[in-house]
Amino acid sequence: MSFSELGLQDDLLRAITNQGYTQPTPIQQKAIPMVLAGRDLLASAQTGTGKTAGFTLPMLQRLNNGKRPGKRQVRALVLTPTRELAAQVGESVTDYGKYLPLTSHIIFGGVGQNPQVEALRKGLDILVATPGRLMDLQQQGHVDLSQIEILVLDEADRMLDMGFIHDIKRILKLLPAKRQNLLFSATFSNEIQTLATQLLDNPALVEV
Ligand code: AMP
Repeated sequence: MSFSELGLQDDLLRAITNQGYTQPTPIQQKAIPMVLAGRDLLASAQTGTGKTAGFTLPMLQRLNNGKRPGKRQVRALVLTPTRELAAQVGESVTDYGKYLPLTSHIIFGGVGQNPQVEALRKGLDILVATPGRLMDLQQQGHVDLSQIEILVLDEADRMLDMGFIHDIKRILKLLPAKRQNLLFSATFSNEIQTLATQLLDNPALVEV
């Protein structure tokens, strides 16, 4: 199985070749066609499985193919538990999307917010964020989440362990009802299952 057989476009295939990847990992083989088809996804995957490319590649393709608003607006939101993971996901978005006219930024706590506010003000397509700082900036009026088309919860179990459930619930209320939702988690506690039931519409199940 090759990346092109999964339905990815040339601009993404070129970026994948630049990364030195020759073959999709099992989670990529299963997740990429589902996400490209617009399905919600419930995926159990540990880090190291290639899960980040599994959601980033099809997310980039859908955003690139979708109708572009006149003004650059946040159309995809990836929530991560930690700044380290946000940085990794942000780097993947930049690497895989290098041939596409899409922009992204990462926001997380523990650092000054001014550069983050400035990036939001300029406009961007993909926002990678930790929940606490995202809520802070939203409450100050710096973030508009009303045009989100794709929501990704990455390492959802760790986000719940870290006490982010209230921030996540508040963020969910700010999103449009019609959107695609992707939930990644290494473990499936009752709490994760409850969140999945509330969040996902007829999800494709992917296990690796
Ligand atoms: P992740 O599980 O998303 O944290 O990815 C783990 C590592 O695998 C990262 O360093 C990726 O760059 C790498 N990776 C992702 N997909 C592939 C692939 N298809 N072939 C080789 N390496 C990959």
